[in-house]
Amino acid sequence: MIREGTVFAIKGNMVTAICEEALCQNEIAYIILGDQKLKSEVIKVSGNYAIMQVFEETSGIGPGDKVIFTGQLLSISVGPGLLGQVFDGLQNPLELLAEKSGDFLERGIELHALNLEKQWAFKPLVSIGDKVTAGSFLGEVKEKNISHKVMVPFSFKEFFRVTYITEPGEYKVTDRIAEIESINKSSSHTLTMTFESPVKIPIKCYKKRLLPQEPMLTGTRVIDTFYPVARGGTYCIPGPFGAGKTVVQQITSRYAKADIVIIVACGERAGEVVETMREFPKLEDPLTGRSLMERTIIICNTSSMPVSAREASVYTGIALAEYYRQMGLNILLLADSTSRWAQAMREMSGRLEEIPGEEAFPAYLESRIASFYERAGLVELGNGNRGSITIGGTVSPAGGNFSEPVTQASLKVVGAFHGLSRERAQARKFPSIHPLESWTKYKSIQDEVKLKNTKSLLVRGNTISQMMNVLGEEGISIDDYILFQKSELIDAVFIQQNSFDKVDAFCSSERQVFLFNFLYKYVV
Ligand code: ADP
Ligand code: MG
Repeated sequence: MIREGTVFAIKGNMVTAICEEALCQNEIAYIILGDQKLKSEVIKVSGNYAIMQVFEETSGIGPGDKVIFTGQLLSISVGPGLLGQVFDGLQNPLELLAEKSGDFLERGIELHALNLEKQWAFKPLVSIGDKVTAGSFLGEVKEKNISHKVMVPFSFKEFFRVTYITEPGEYKVTDRIAEIESINKSSSHTLTMTFESPVKIPIKCYKKRLLPQEPMLTGTRVIDTFYPVARGGTYCIPGPFGAGKTVVQQITSRYAKADIVIIVACGERAGEVVETMREFPKLEDPLTGRSLMERTIIICNTSSMPVSAREASVYTGIALAEYYRQMGLNILLLADSTSRWAQAMREMSGRLEEIPGEEAFPAYLESRIASFYERAGLVELGNGNRGSITIGGTVSPAGGNFSEPVTQASLKVVGAFHGLSRERAQARKFPSIHPLESWTKYKSIQDEVKLKNTKSLLVRGNTISQMMNVLGEEGISIDDYILFQKSELIDAVFIQQNSFDKVDAFCSSERQVFLFNFLYKYVV
């Protein structure tokens, strides 16, 4: 139900519009400016007034401009052809956008996320008469190295019968591939390989959630051995500017044992994203031997793009992850940095003149961050398969102060904490994940008793090192000195790892177990 309205007032990227008819919270609206259509989202409705955040630059908008309310929620298009792409926060494919409008993007351009011309070899997985519901597999196509399942759209909650399914063959994503009819024959629908899925509503087409237990191996020793993350788990990496957050995430995105990696570059420097985009197609996926980009999707919303689209980029990322999880795949979502997203929330909340919470962040900051991390998890799907989403988010607290609201809100909900230390980064001890201050709730690949003993050796080594700072080397006993040297050895040999060295960047779990046991036997 499309309705019309007019712009009433404008304040930064917030526009207030009036509409005679009923308005809905979170619906998408377009502001019409000549031949440009500026996308925006209704974030607050009061009576006939809608306050909207505009996802584009707002200069030139004035009272009286026409607004079109779509009645649709902010959605992404899903279907085969998403892997290997680089999108902006609103799922516009950036490469195509650059072809259309040059390196400096014009505003108001929207492109379809999928290639609508490409033909895909479709293989049906259902027959006429089969009972299906939201998330049921209708067929499959091969997308890069993945068997991409074509599913019943997630909004089709009741049960349906298949009344038509196409022959195996080559089809475009918008071609009709199936028809379904509700069990009581009250409605029937034509299905294609693509559909729209709202980004802010979690997809819950699964039987049950399971406890994440299996490790999500990253190839970084200090993570896999000391502070592991489970498949379907969550972790956060807070650290001051320059401590190595981005490098840790980049290295994880390369080597992590996941079927698909989704990188949400949220408000960080553009140069780093460019580096990833240049590097990835050249790099080989250590699991499949194919180009890394083939299993990666990048959502790019750098510091030079409008702030309002930052929030959208986080939701677009997690919605894409949920789509692929429904196929029974293991997804790793990396968000860098959640602080920039929180800053965008703070800015918008300020413009809405809401009552501010701690450090002027909105009072709902915690619940927004929690509901983001809660979309991670290991689930058992209707067909018995398992799929998982693991979320890792960096936090960039001002001055490296971990007591600020975004870090604290993240720490309340995540299952592992990889705290980066400025001292270690300055001493060039990388990855600068602090070996004593970090923690995890997940199980390690190493023996728990050995792990505990090793950690207590590190703690004692640290105490002795502090004593030595005061008393000097002569002030401590020879036994203590040996202990200190042992902890230094473990640090240098095991915990530190050079991300830029071909061999050292990735350490397989077998090698980690061997090395750890060797060190344990002779050092601990
Ligand atoms: P942040 O994202 O926390 O601001 P970066 O990840 O950009 O910091 O890291 C800053 C610099 O620190 C990098 O350019 C690199 O020189 C160095 N660095 C960080 N992590 C590592 C690592 N694991 N190995 C080697 N050098 C690193
Ligand atoms: Mg960074």
